[in-house]
Amino acid sequence: MSELFQHRARKRFGQNFLKDSGIIDRILRSIHAVSTDHLLEIGPGQGALTEGLLASGALLDVIELDQDLIPLLKLRFGLNTLFHLHQGDALKFDIASLTKDEGEKLRVVGNLPYNISTPLIFHLLSHHHVIHDMHFMLQKEVVERMAADPGSSDWGRLTIMVQYFCQVEHLFNVPPECFTPAPKVDSAIVRLTPYQTLPYPAKSHQLLELVVREAFNQRRKTLRNTLKRLLSVDDIEKANVDSGLRPEQLTLAEFVRLADQLYINQH
Ligand code: SAM
Repeated sequence: MSELFQHRARKRFGQNFLKDSGIIDRILRSIHAVSTDHLLEIGPGQGALTEGLLASGALLDVIELDQDLIPLLKLRFGLNTLFHLHQGDALKFDIASLTKDEGEKLRVVGNLPYNISTPLIFHLLSHHHVIHDMHFMLQKEVVERMAADPGSSDWGRLTIMVQYFCQVEHLFNVPPECFTPAPKVDSAIVRLTPYQTLPYPAKSHQLLELVVREAFNQRRKTLRNTLKRLLSVDDIEKANVDSGLRPEQLTLAEFVRLADQLYINQH
């Protein structure tokens, strides 16, 4: 890489750049991009994944927040007509604006900045209808939470909202030595595939989020206590859920029934 662009990794942008070519190849093989794809890479950094993504011949939009990386990205990829660079914050980006044709879907990819990964995933879930799939590098614990089963201590708000919209696959782990600088935590690659038809559709996604957030505000307490501002014990029983259970003991389907009961009460 050009001496002109000696970039010092910035902590506040969550910059840990991939340097291990074996892992980069393994990630690219898992994504398996083809020329008919429309890809979106979040946080391309210095282009560790970008180069291989472009080699597939797919259309590639990238969103990078750090202004200092823009000249480097332009120099490396700017002449490729498939490459479209957006400088800005992925958390505020209207990703639906990238799709041109009715029914077109994006394949989203990113070695994500760990400090914003949860809000970013919630932001992307709100655009689930324009996403074909997502491949992310995340902190290993976050991937474990996404893939958790009910009853485990990892089962929580993130798990439920991700599993409501997507099939979750924990693909493989990535050790700190694969990055520069090395992060203090282990990482993992996850594939999230939004369902075409939701297995447990709620009458309102927003009410489901509200019920789940309220329930897990005090995860050690029983539902009759955590949900009392939203649902009475009678309401909970009407939804065919045991009000003496703790939130981490409930399945996704049970949360959907509680959200639907709240919807019925409000309409
Ligand atoms: N993809 C590169 C790699 O694998 O080497 C860089 C990964 S680094 C973990 C995260 C990247 O996301 C950095 O380039 C950082 O500047 C960028 N970034 C941080 N916050 C962002 C945001 N809100 N929107 C878009 N990019 C962001």
